[in-house]
Formats: sequence, C-alpha cells, structure tokens
Amino acid sequence: MNSKRAARGDQLPLSLSDDPPNRLAALPVLDERLRGTKFVQLTPRSVLNSPEQTGVDFWSLNPYVGCEFGCTYCYARYAHRYTVERAHDAGKLTDGEFRDFRGEHGWEAFERRIFVKERVLDALEADLRRYFRANAGSDDPTPIVIGTATDPYQPAERRFRITRRVLERLSDCDGLNVGIITKSPLIARDVDVLQRVQARSDLEVHISLISVDAALIRRVEARSPTPATRLRALEKLATAGVRAGLIVAPVLPGITDDVPHLDALFRAARDAGAKFVHAGPLRLYPAVRDRFLPMLAEGFPDLVARYRRAYDGRSGAPPAYARALARRVKRLQARLGFPVNDGMVDRYRPRRVPVQGSLDLKL
Ligand code: SF4
Repeated sequence: MNSKRAARGDQLPLSLSDDPPNRLAALPVLDERLRGTKFVQLTPRSVLNSPEQTGVDFWSLNPYVGCEFGCTYCYARYAHRYTVERAHDAGKLTDGEFRDFRGEHGWEAFERRIFVKERVLDALEADLRRYFRANAGSDDPTPIVIGTATDPYQPAERRFRITRRVLERLSDCDGLNVGIITKSPLIARDVDVLQRVQARSDLEVHISLISVDAALIRRVEARSPTPATRLRALEKLATAGVRAGLIVAPVLPGITDDVPHLDALFRAARDAGAKFVHAGPLRLYPAVRDRFLPMLAEGFPDLVARYRRAYDGRSGAPPAYARALARRVKRLQARLGFPVNDGMVDRYRPRRVPVQGSLDLKL
C-alpha cells in the first residue's frame, strides 16, 4: 500500500510517555450468552502495538482478546493465555476463575471468554501520538493492521462496536496506511466509515476465507460465517468502492491446496470484486496443535502421520512445500487476472524460519 499523504504528527495533541504497558482494570462481565460465553471488560492503556513490540514490520491493533469463531488452526490462543495469566498474577482473577478462563484443555476459553477493550479511544489517542512520532517525515508510513490476532468483526463487535470506534478515529487522520483482516460479513455494516478512511488514507480490507466448501469450513472453523456470506460482504465492499481482496490463511496441506480447490476459491473472490488475493500455508504453532490435531485425526485421519512428519520440530511448513505452493498461487493469480505477488501469504503474520522437511502438495 502506498501512502496518499505523509503521516502528520501535527494533527494530534503532543506529548505522552512511550510504550505504556497494558494495565488490567477490574474484570467486570459485560454480557453473557445463554450457552455460557462471557464478555469481560479489559481497560488497556495501550492498544496499538509497535513493530518493536511485536517483531513484525507493521503496527497492529486487536480490539478483542479471544474469538468466538473458534478456528481450529488459530494461532492467537497464546495471546489469550497471556492475558489470562497476567490477570491472575495481578489478582484480577481468583484461582477458580483462572481455571475457568483457561478452559479444560487450555484452549476452550479462547472461544468462550472474550476480553473487550473498552475505552479504546483513550488508549488510541496516546498510541497515535507515538505512531505519528515514529513516522514523522515519512512518505510511506508503516501500516496499521487491525485484526492480526483476533477477528475485529467477531460477534462481540455487533454489540460493543470497538472496531467501529477505532475506524472512526482513524478516519480523522490523513495519510495512514490501514489494513483490516476479518472473516465476518459484519464489516459491511461499516462501509460508510471505511469509505471515509479510504478518502484520506490507503486502505486494504482482507476478507479471510480458506475454502468455498461450506461443509469443510464448518469442520475446520467451529462458528465462523459461511463462505457465501463472506463473499457477499466482499462484494458489498467492492461495490462501494472499498479496496478489498481475499486472504487465504492458512492453506491446509493435503486438504485445500489442490488446484481445483484454490481455483474455485480465487474465482469466487474475483467474481465478488476482489482486487487481490494472498495465500499461504498453515503454521502449526504449539498452541495450535492441541486444537487442530484432534480435528485432523477425526476428519482427515490419513493425513495425521504426514502432518506429524512435516511439522515435526517446526511451526512453519517445510520450505520446499511453501515454495511449491507459492508457485501454484502465482500461476492462479496470473490466470485469473490478479496482481501476481511472490506467493507470499503471510502478509500480516509473524515470520519464522522453518527448517527442511517434506510435504507434498495435493494434486
Ligand atoms: S477468526 Fe481469526 S482470530 Fe477468530 S478464531 Fe478464526 S483465526 Fe482465530
């Protein structure tokens, strides 16, 4: 994304201390679903993470911790565990609550105990001053990416509207470089504010979808929106002139990596008006395995041994596999008229260096 205007620090009030650590306030329950999901208030002093804090080359913002969509491959569970542990250490959770906020196997609570970053604008003001100071004088400001660890338009957003408040604040700024990643058609609710952001800054919306096969999606992503509703949201954004495309993260080796599968997905995105597609292979972080591997054993038992070999001792896919997938993605991008990138998938995801291994593409 190229900037339309240089980021300007003079748009904001001056002075603030650098990188204030998050501080957990009390944890009042804001809402509770009949099936038991709880929404808990979090009052962080900072919501915008700098590249130095995260080790990636963009600033990131996540309005929620935890996500009801419950994708089995989700790598964000570690952030929820960290938040729960800090709350416990700070005396905000009793031992009993701590167990409840971790879940029976350590992963369930990510989907059922959702932290809501209330009073986000107070924290964002301070963070934006930090951001503008870091980008002062730059014609190419570092991107701000919303939704790198949890979905900013997950069901909680319908009520709490934290993401919308963030976007409204960003729509007052000039020359930003903003990315949003979501699986939710709820983003179409905010087309007005997205248009306002895009009028003054560069904006890219990444609609996240790994397959057009609804039955497969239901198996792999416990409660995510259907492919059809996501594609309709993409179409609404494109029709409204919002720059939007598809992100396929992750491609699942042996399950969704064959040409017919990817071709159908890319084609559906193109027909919905996608301006770009990105795709990349599964990363099997330790926190992901407990959730993903049982699903694999149940739904795809023939693949279990292959996955165990391929991801043995590493989180990233084997380099040879990643290169082969990148070539396949590039060929499909070219065939369907998308900009051809380097097959790079993890545009807004942490990078790790995997070691050699073997995993064949599904043909
Ligand atoms: S939508 Fe994103 S954040 Fe939510 S569970 Fe799925 S991968 Fe994780």
